[in-house]
Amino acid sequence: MFESLSDRLGGVFDRLRGRGALTEADVRAAMREVRVALLEADVALPVARQFVDGVTEQAIGQNVLRSVTPGQQVVKIVNDALVAMLGADESELLLDVTPPAVVMMVGLQGSGKTTTTAKIAKRLTGRERKKVLMASLDVNRPNAQEQLATLGTQVEVATLPIVPGQQPVEIARRAMQAAKLQGYDVLMLDTAGRLHVDQALMDEMKAVADIARPQEILLVVDALTGQDAVNVAQNFSDQVPLTGVVLTRMDGDARGGAALSMRAVTGKPIKFAGTGEKLDALEAFHPERVAGRILGMGDVVSLVERAAESIQAEDAERMAMKMAKGQFDMNDLRAQLAQMARMGGLGALAGMMPGMKKAQAAMAATPGSDKVLVRMDAMIGSMTPKERTKPELINAKRKIRIAKGSGTTVQEVNKLLKMHQEMATAMKKIKKMGGLKGMMAMLG
Ligand code: GDP
Repeated sequence: MFESLSDRLGGVFDRLRGRGALTEADVRAAMREVRVALLEADVALPVARQFVDGVTEQAIGQNVLRSVTPGQQVVKIVNDALVAMLGADESELLLDVTPPAVVMMVGLQGSGKTTTTAKIAKRLTGRERKKVLMASLDVNRPNAQEQLATLGTQVEVATLPIVPGQQPVEIARRAMQAAKLQGYDVLMLDTAGRLHVDQALMDEMKAVADIARPQEILLVVDALTGQDAVNVAQNFSDQVPLTGVVLTRMDGDARGGAALSMRAVTGKPIKFAGTGEKLDALEAFHPERVAGRILGMGDVVSLVERAAESIQAEDAERMAMKMAKGQFDMNDLRAQLAQMARMGGLGALAGMMPGMKKAQAAMAATPGSDKVLVRMDAMIGSMTPKERTKPELINAKRKIRIAKGSGTTVQEVNKLLKMHQEMATAMKKIKKMGGLKGMMAMLG
C-alpha cells in the first residue's frame, strides 16, 4: 500500500531538498510530478488537482522560497496537506447516546461488510467493554445471516436469532426491540449488499435508517478497487447520510488512491482500516501516521502499538526507546522478527517500518514469505554474540560460515545484513528528528 506513491514522492522531494535555493519554476515542476504520482496512485482527478493547487499556492506564496530550507518547508506543506486530505483528526465512533447506540453498516457485496461488522463488534466488546448485539439484515445473499452468526460465535458477540422469511425493516425493528429490552449498549446492523449500487438498495437502507435512527452509518469500501471505490463512495454518500468510511483490504497492494480520495469525495472521515482477514485485523485510521508513511517516515507509532498488543507493554517501551536512541543490533532485529511472526507475518507489517519497506516488500512478495522469518532467525542464530552486537564484523568468510550454519545462502545473509542496515539508518534518522516525540511534533 502506498509503496509506489511513496517512492515517487520520495524522489521528487529528495531533489527539492537537495537544492539550497528554489524558484517558483522548481516548485511548479515538482508539483506537476506530484500530480502525476497522485493520479497514478488512483487518486480521483479533482482531488489531485485541488491538492496540488493548494500546495503550490502555499509553497510559492508566503516566504517559503526565500527561507533557509525551502525544500524542507515544501515537504512540510505537502505533509500538512496530505493530513488535511486524509481528514486531520482520527475519528472514533460516536456512541454517546442513551443505549442502544445503533451502528449501521452499508456497502457493496464483497466489500468486507460482514467481516468488518464482526471486527468492530469485537473491538467494542473488548477494548471498550460494551455490550454489543449484531443483526444481519441481508436477506438477499443466501447464508448471509448465518455467516454473521458464525462470526458472532468466533468473536463472542451476540447475534439476533434468525427468523426465516423476515424482511430487512422488520428485522431492524425486532433488533431494536431486543437491544432495548436486553440492555445492549450497541446494536450493529449489517445491511444487504448488492453487486452494484441500485435504487432498491438505497431505498431499503433509507427505510432501515428511518426505523433504527443510527448514530453511525459506516460505508465499507474495498481499497483494492481503486477508482471504483471512489465512485461507490460518491454514490452512497449522495443518498445516505454517512458518518464515516471503513476501508478494507488495506493489507493488499492497493495503490492507495481510494484512501486518499475518500475524505474529499464523501466529506466524511475514514474511521477504520481493515488490514487482514483475521477478526482482529482492524485499525483506527490515523491521518497523520498515514501521511508519514506515504512520505517515507515509516509508521513507527503504529508498529509500536501493534507490538504492544502482542507483547508485554514494557517490552514495547524498551523497543521504542531503542529505536529512539538509534541503537539497534541483530538481537533487536531478532526480537522484532519473532514479534512479526506473532503479529501476522511480514505482509501485515510491510511498509510500517521505516527503511524496511523495500526489503520487506520484496520478501513479502515471495510465496511462503513467512518462512523467510524462520530463515532469518536461523541466520541470526548462527552468528556469534559478538557478531550480533557488531554486525559490521561480518566479512565474507563469516558470511559463508553463517550461511552454512543456518542452511541458507550467502545471498540471504547479505539480504539480512542490508535489511538491518536500512533499519538502523532509518532509526538514526528518527533520532535526529528528536526521537519519536520530535517526529510526531514535526508531523503534527
Ligand atoms: P461482504 O459481502 O461485504 O459482507 O463481505 P465479507 O465480509 O463476506 O468479506 C468478503 C471477503 O473479504 C472475506 O473473505 C473476508 O475475509 C475478506 N476481507 C474482509 N476484510 C478484509 C481485509 O481488511 N483484508 C483482507 N485481506 N480481506 C478482507
